Amino acid sequence: MAFPLEGLPARVRIHEVGARDGLQNERAVVPTEVKAEFVHRLARAGLTTIEATSFVHPKWVPQLADAEALFPLVRDLDARLPVLVPNERGLDRALALGAREVAVFASATESFAKANLNRTVDEALAMFAPVVARARAEGLAVRGYLSMCFGDPWEGQVPVEQVVRVTRALADLGCQELSLGDTIGVATPGHVGALLSALDAAGLPSSRLAVHFHDTYGQALSNTLAALRHGVATVDASAGGLGGCPYAKSATGNLATEDLVWMLHGLGIETGVDLGELVATSAWLAERLGRPSPSRTVRALSHKEQ
Ligand code: MG
Repeated sequence: MAFPLEGLPARVRIHEVGARDGLQNERAVVPTEVKAEFVHRLARAGLTTIEATSFVHPKWVPQLADAEALFPLVRDLDARLPVLVPNERGLDRALALGAREVAVFASATESFAKANLNRTVDEALAMFAPVVARARAEGLAVRGYLSMCFGDPWEGQVPVEQVVRVTRALADLGCQELSLGDTIGVATPGHVGALLSALDAAGLPSSRLAVHFHDTYGQALSNTLAALRHGVATVDASAGGLGGCPYAKSATGNLATEDLVWMLHGLGIETGVDLGELVATSAWLAERLGRPSPSRTVRALSHKEQ
């Protein structure tokens, strides 16, 4: 039985990032067939948006160097399958394989833009401009990721106005959905509300936003609830809590999809996800990765089954 709270959306779309954001932080390269099976199983578990891979240069992210081999193995699934594209070359590769949805990734801070993209924030936006314009002209859906929206390992707390400026710029480039990343997991619920209010005032309503929380300080679900109260209905999460951030050493994993689904279903919010199937998928992948899933819900429900 569910216990709803007032003022929350009836349905949340989960943007599943385990196969990309999760796996890209795994040291040992996961075989392409295992990745393909992972994505298939996620779709079977009811996830409708599954970020499949990234068309960054293989040299930068060796784990995702098999994008060309992987994408054809999953592209016929009945799900939205966005892929990351860092530049026009990446977009060319994604288009050649029939991708229908792409994402670019910007930073709210200069330090992380430098570390992750070797550019200033504005240089990175200038690099994305032709990518987004071409993708939209080809009829693709485009998501803009924004990292370090709350805190940055070099700069500390990130001013809300700074995040609003870069989010606005990404929207102006033509990104339809904007995903606000708490890359090092330092946000707290009031900070989330303050940022969403400021974005709303700047003409960026929560209906157009997604949130991407990390659980470094145990705040990911509290922050998610704060975002839902503000009208956000798209939440990024990673099956089994896979992944972190290779450039932010203190960052632990993404919000686990299972933990998110447990909360949402408890609130009576529809996700379309079969939690049992999803837990089985994460337990299966954890075996292949050789270590247990950090998701509390995966651990709780796996033990229950034994
Ligand atoms: Mg992440």
